[in-house]
Amino acid sequence: MKRSEVQQKDLWRTEDIFTSAVEWEKEFSEVNKALPSILSYKGKLGDKYEFMACMELNSGIMQRLERLYCYAHLKHDENGSDETGLGFYSRAENLYMHYCTYSSFITPELGELDEVTLSAYQSDPDLKTYSYMLSEIRRSKRHILSAAEERLLALGQTVYSGFTNVFGMINNVDMPFPKIDINGKKTRLTHGLYSQCLCSPDVNLRKKAFEGMYKAIGSLINTVAANYAASVAKDNFLATARGYKSAVEKSTDSDNVPGEVYTKLVKTVGENLEPVHRYVALRKKIMGVEKLHMYDLYVSVIKDADLKLSFDEAFELVLKGLAPMGDEYVGLLKTARANRWMDVYETENKRSGAYSMGVTGVHPFVLLNYSSTAHDVFTIAHELGHSLHSYYSSKNQDYVNADYSIFVAEVASTVNEVLLLNYMLKNETNPDMRKFLLSYYLDMFRTTLFRQTMFAEFELTAHTMAQSGKPLTVESLSREYYKLNKKYYGTSVVHDKQIKLEWARIPHFYSAFYVYKYATGITSAVNIAHAILSEGESAVRRYKEKFLSAGGSKSPYDILCDVGVDLKTDEPYRIAMDEFAKTLDELEKLF
Ligand SMILES: [Zn+2]
Repeated sequence: MKRSEVQQKDLWRTEDIFTSAVEWEKEFSEVNKALPSILSYKGKLGDKYEFMACMELNSGIMQRLERLYCYAHLKHDENGSDETGLGFYSRAENLYMHYCTYSSFITPELGELDEVTLSAYQSDPDLKTYSYMLSEIRRSKRHILSAAEERLLALGQTVYSGFTNVFGMINNVDMPFPKIDINGKKTRLTHGLYSQCLCSPDVNLRKKAFEGMYKAIGSLINTVAANYAASVAKDNFLATARGYKSAVEKSTDSDNVPGEVYTKLVKTVGENLEPVHRYVALRKKIMGVEKLHMYDLYVSVIKDADLKLSFDEAFELVLKGLAPMGDEYVGLLKTARANRWMDVYETENKRSGAYSMGVTGVHPFVLLNYSSTAHDVFTIAHELGHSLHSYYSSKNQDYVNADYSIFVAEVASTVNEVLLLNYMLKNETNPDMRKFLLSYYLDMFRTTLFRQTMFAEFELTAHTMAQSGKPLTVESLSREYYKLNKKYYGTSVVHDKQIKLEWARIPHFYSAFYVYKYATGITSAVNIAHAILSEGESAVRRYKEKFLSAGGSKSPYDILCDVGVDLKTDEPYRIAMDEFAKTLDELEKLF
């Protein structure tokens, strides 16, 4: 479909940012001219009024840059072959890089201010807006070393990123993928093709792809292990150099999240895996196989139901599902539709997938590619969850505090999915549709809670082993991984020997201690949705005021505590796991 064939109501209104390309050009050249002015504050941030003026100028420029950049981004995404959009996009990126160079003195200069000045700034009512930002600077100072030591560490920058690059080369370039037989044609395996094959209903194809993948990675396994061991050593080195007890502590500290959150997640989930084993056993039963293999875990056993809903019908369903959020929230969703925040359908050269992008001072924009599967209906609820999080935060916070952190980024979107699921399950009587909904929910848990926690546990084990002087080798890493695989998936599946090497093909392991955030995200969302459904209005109010409106004005851990989710305790994980077990009970009854 061409964009010109889509009704206007289904296209996003980028004119809300700039009415025309000419207007964008004009703004671009003005911002470009304004950028160097920020330099006039260099060396002056120790003076309160200069600091204030610098911050105001900075956030003014940032907001203008954001609008330039977002407009270009949206235009580029709506039609990738459009030259104007592409041109705007690369120029906006360039402009942003220039800005980063000009403003790069701000954080280090603030960091070098003495404690007396910083603490006076932080408690000054005139500077209230910057209070959290200043507390973060003071916090990070605890791990800043002497100038000479910092210089040495900075000199090693390219060395630190080397391991990721080496892994990229192994994984994307040197991997000797074999050719496999697909529909009678010899085809070279790739990462993309591998994922497709593992979802195929043809068991032989799944098996061939699985064996081919591990044969390829197996042929380079000593190199991968040596590289991963060096990457772990680097993480441990940087943590020790900066005075942290461990690499995991350094990583969680950078999110301003207590280290105990990480260990609590790994421990509590790890101790409650019985329902996951039951889930694997049910999959075996549904598939009707004598032996369930590791390559049988991704094929969907229940087809994505085509709800055959028009977009407007799907949107109505989302409104009903999110009704527990109250009239104000539902009203905002209607505004999103009426005021064209969303770009609904797939059109020629449009970017695939879905996202939400907040634009300060305008409104959020949502890219969709709506067909009519049930999955697509959940995507609407998901993306609008992001949008309203952005909307509430930027409405209630100053610019500097509006952006929420990665740690909580998937919470609001998942809350919406859970609410919608709950509504649909309550009203759905068709057994096939119920099967789909239940398994959709279970898959959410499996992929974001259990699998990511298993990865998180592996990362923790590898770093701890290295720290205590135990060598990380092909044998030791594979042994630990195999143990975890058995622990997480239980006895209903054959633990094919190849799976021992799975650790060697996970790119995320080179950004250590990242994936646990997916697991804490879904845990938090399930708890919040639970409270909304059981407590009603008071829980909604708390969620809107303390979470959706909080942006990045506090530590993400504190924000979650404010809505009753204390990730340092067992309770939230237990509630999430109970929800999983309950859902599984229902699905088991249908087979
Ligand atoms: Zn999302």
